[in-house]
Amino acid sequence: MHISVQFGWINVKLAFIKMLATIRMKKIQIILLLLFSISAFAQKVTYNHIVDSTDVETKEVMILFENYLASNHQNKEKNKFWNLEEQKEHRNFDFLESEFQPSLYMGFPVHILSMKFINEICQIKAQFSYCKEDGSPYVLAIVNYVAKKENGTFKLYNALSSNKQNWECTTVGIVDFYYPSYHKFNYEKAQKLNDFINVICKNFGVKPKPFEYYLADDYDEIQELKGFDYYIGMGGQSKPSGKATDDKVYCGGLGEYYPHEVFHVQIDEHFPNKHFWVSEGIATLLGGSRGKSLGWHIKRTNLYLQKHPEIDLNNMLKLTNLDSETSYHYVLGGLIAMKIKDKGGWSLLKEFMLSGGTDEDYYNAIEEHLRINKSELNNFIREQLQIESEK
Ligand SMILES: [Zn+2]
Repeated sequence: MHISVQFGWINVKLAFIKMLATIRMKKIQIILLLLFSISAFAQKVTYNHIVDSTDVETKEVMILFENYLASNHQNKEKNKFWNLEEQKEHRNFDFLESEFQPSLYMGFPVHILSMKFINEICQIKAQFSYCKEDGSPYVLAIVNYVAKKENGTFKLYNALSSNKQNWECTTVGIVDFYYPSYHKFNYEKAQKLNDFINVICKNFGVKPKPFEYYLADDYDEIQELKGFDYYIGMGGQSKPSGKATDDKVYCGGLGEYYPHEVFHVQIDEHFPNKHFWVSEGIATLLGGSRGKSLGWHIKRTNLYLQKHPEIDLNNMLKLTNLDSETSYHYVLGGLIAMKIKDKGGWSLLKEFMLSGGTDEDYYNAIEEHLRINKSELNNFIREQLQIESEK
């Protein structure tokens, strides 16, 4: 699915900027063309009914949260409003920030719904939304943070850090698996995932890195664990889906073996100079997409393209989603990665990962490695999809 939403003007203050925000969610990709008027320095914070804002600790947490939102928390430098412990362990210490592109903090006004104290710990519930011209609210997300004292002063914490303590944890190899108590842990699949990691790391010449792997039957259980009460894109049919950050993998519906996202967490950071289609293609070749193999996606893409001769694959990088199951960057990126691996094995795949980040770089790499010019892609890809579909 592909939805374009044109927003109206939001009257906050200061500079008018035009922002193209791509929100990659679990099931759909939503392109939001945001026409914002936001303040570059202060994110507007309002409050629903707060039980007692004269209470010293409540006031302290309110100021802390407002200061954090106003601080430059996206520059990855030390932030005095966030706890030190998480900042030491994680380069991207605020786990919710990267849930949206360009960021959760892209300028939506923040409305605090509640602040609940249990003993010395405060749970902050915040809504990121704005009011549309017709008066209806547009809600990006409702998220939770934790504030508790570190060396006598309130600091912010990720909700995930405390919520995960209520989940089971089993370590197999270099992976810490977190899962809900109803789940029966599958050691065989956990071992298979470690074997996959060893194979890809060896072939791409990188050192395997320990990481946390969160799994549940449905992806929204993981979203809740991270601190989401609501996010745009929530709901719909439950399908396998996953997401990788720099040191975590979250996945729903596939248990202990979700290799696609694990490819991203292990390999991507070592090859920064690559096109998006290169890494998505290789991840799909090695680990499938949305719970289905590359072969499965190739078969249905082949049938679809036969019915749509007008689709021009010479400009394939302009294409996004075929439907809610298959995206072009996975299936065609995967086909190209397969042809490159067939031609030159792992070492050529590795070279492909270094071939540059622009669209031109991607087309040039195909020409260099497969001897297929951009103007021949439409014929070549349709032909190869047919050949692979018959296998
Ligand atoms: Zn991916």
